[in-house]
Amino acid sequence: MRLQEYLFEVAPRAPLYELARRGLIRSPNPLTITYSVTAACRSLCKTCNIGRTYLENPERAKRDLTLDEIEKTFRHLGHIYFFNVSGGEPFMRMDLPEICRLAFIHLKPRLISIPTNSLAPRAIEKSTLKILDYMEELLPDSVFLSVKPSIDGVGEMHDYLRGIKGNFVKLEETIDRLLALRSKNPRLHVDLGSVISNFNLHHLHDLEDWVHQRGIEAYRHEIAEQRVEFHNIGDPITPSPEIYEKLTLEFAEKIVRNIKEKGFFTRVTEAIRISYYHVAVEILRQRRQVTPCYGGLANIHMDHDGEMWACCILGGEQSMGNVRDWDYDVPALLNSEQAKTVKKYIADGNCACPLASQWLNNVLLTPRHMLRVLYTLFVRFPLAKSSSKENKPARKINPKDVKVRIRGTSPRSAIVQEKAGVISAPKNADLPFFEIEAAETAAQDTPLPSKFPKSLHRVESVRDLTSSTCLLQIERNGLHFIPGQYAMLGKPGSFEAREYTIYSGVQDTQSLKFLITVVDGGRVSQALRNCVAGEILELEGPMGYFQLEKPSAAKKHYFIATGSGIAPFHAFTQSEAELNFTLLHGVRWLADCYHKDDYDPQRYISCVSRQKGGDFYGRVSDYLKTQTLAPDVCYYLCGNCDMIYDVHDILTEKGVPHNQIKTEIFY
Ligand SMILES: Cc1cc2nc3c(=O)[nH]c(=O)nc-3n(C[C@H](O)[C@H](O)[C@H](O)COP(=O)(O)OP(=O)(O)OC[C@H]3O[C@@H](n4cnc5c(N)ncnc54)[C@H](O)[C@@H]3O)c2cc1C
Ligand code: SF4
Repeated sequence: MRLQEYLFEVAPRAPLYELARRGLIRSPNPLTITYSVTAACRSLCKTCNIGRTYLENPERAKRDLTLDEIEKTFRHLGHIYFFNVSGGEPFMRMDLPEICRLAFIHLKPRLISIPTNSLAPRAIEKSTLKILDYMEELLPDSVFLSVKPSIDGVGEMHDYLRGIKGNFVKLEETIDRLLALRSKNPRLHVDLGSVISNFNLHHLHDLEDWVHQRGIEAYRHEIAEQRVEFHNIGDPITPSPEIYEKLTLEFAEKIVRNIKEKGFFTRVTEAIRISYYHVAVEILRQRRQVTPCYGGLANIHMDHDGEMWACCILGGEQSMGNVRDWDYDVPALLNSEQAKTVKKYIADGNCACPLASQWLNNVLLTPRHMLRVLYTLFVRFPLAKSSSKENKPARKINPKDVKVRIRGTSPRSAIVQEKAGVISAPKNADLPFFEIEAAETAAQDTPLPSKFPKSLHRVESVRDLTSSTCLLQIERNGLHFIPGQYAMLGKPGSFEAREYTIYSGVQDTQSLKFLITVVDGGRVSQALRNCVAGEILELEGPMGYFQLEKPSAAKKHYFIATGSGIAPFHAFTQSEAELNFTLLHGVRWLADCYHKDDYDPQRYISCVSRQKGGDFYGRVSDYLKTQTLAPDVCYYLCGNCDMIYDVHDILTEKGVPHNQIKTEIFY
């Protein structure tokens, strides 16, 4: 934040928020909106249950606000200082760049931040690039975008805490792609963020060493919190106040030791952060708002379906209303009787928490905290000595060598909340006791448990279909799956496993088939192709929500695939004989039209881009541009990320509503 912005934009609002908090004036426009753009998320984190809730009911994401609704909401809201995008996983919304564009036009934010679970590196890169283009067009150069990949552990530990095998490999790819973008777009900041919970306290030094090793400058910690938003009230994730205090002291000291090399802008933000740490410790110790919280006033949080919350901790338990019920008129909603009741609940001190996004703003609006910011900035920082210890090169960590084992559980002190926004006294909770060792010594121990069932399957055959595609067939062993789902495949016990969609139909009771693109330099696809009959593979899953819209027999389905992206459509059509579908398959060569004869020729259209003789000569996107598309059909896109983005744009331009389009990005 720049000084003049603070002086002219933020500070003058402080007395207004205070008057509004006392109920003396109407609520002024908030400084910050956090908007959870979707309920969808593929992660299954230890510290957040949004992904699990979505897994139980993927239909939730159908209630996400549409672009039209978002535009109306933003138009009513007007200028905002911080625009925090949240989720679910924001990048799972293909129209995230369009949402940001609407925010740039109507909210004119000064800072934009977007967190990500890094599960779709190319999609994240593509959307970020598009967002940067819109920024270039619509916002001054001084506004920057912070994309924040989450990292909760190194290697296997990250995958365990995020509940998805292979996540760490994708995180590394996401970081590489974002850093490459940053080298050309200085307004993009890549900020890694870790959630510190009772599950990774022992692992923080490894994490820091790895982050330094990767040459990443911006790295933030946040303490795991129990929020209504995360559906995790009562989960023993939050460390005790003593541990929290010890950690924040360490973080603050580290900031001070390193401050000499930083510019003024970073110094200001770090001074604000140190002040926040002090307040957060006080709040946890005293279990009350130590100074007023401006939740619902300076900050508001809009959930994916338009529910407006004062903050994500209280969430829907203290909802201020839904924009859909207020014709998207946010100021009217924020001044409604319901909203006033929520604000009074907060002003009366019925809740307390150290939520970073809220209390960083509270610091900016509270003179007492700002005095500490000034002291830190103008006294503590100039007197700071940089430590030689800090300049030591970080320990080299190879993520593949990090093997984490649970050695049982032990009772440890944790904050376990009974009610949202009410900090309980710490109590003992049975928490897993981890050890991290070099790969060789740990190989005999019990591996980390997974959220999904793991099973071993004997390879029946591997057959080359083309020079770069093979069909892997393994024993089914009674595995139940829904057509369209995928599994993580790899060698037993290996850290390396990747997603592969089940290609066969449910009627094939003996075998599971997978259509595999063998990637140049790809570790798992090459290993799978080289499997021989009788070898054993480990399968984790099935999982995934790329399934037929129900009732499937009564609907019209339009399947659009590139390459091996045809896998889920093969499973759909093999499983349901009466399906009313059109299948568009984009390939380079005629030989890539795998198992063409399995489909009704009236329903199958091949788009071959490098050879004549298919049904259409060109790409699927070229074909679709020539077509009139019915808006009441369910569209399913699967395969290559570029195709999915292009086709998504074509479909929406042709009037297909966003919620009629399902996507599964393979690569
Ligand atoms: C939900 C889901 C379902 C999937 N189902 C299938 C499926 O049924 N069949 C299938 O073949 N693939 C499928 N994939 C894609 C597959 O998981 C990836 O291609 C996988 O990364 C390959 O692993 P690898 O170890 O061989 O390559 P990696 O070691 O992961 O990657 C090596 C390099 O190749 C690049 N790369 C990865 N995949 C591709 C690709 N397809 N084309 C070109 N470059 C690539 C990476 O960016 C990296 O730079 C699916 C992906 C997802 C997310
Ligand atoms: S729960 Fe926390 S962030 Fe929410 S209003 Fe209360 S003190 Fe503020």
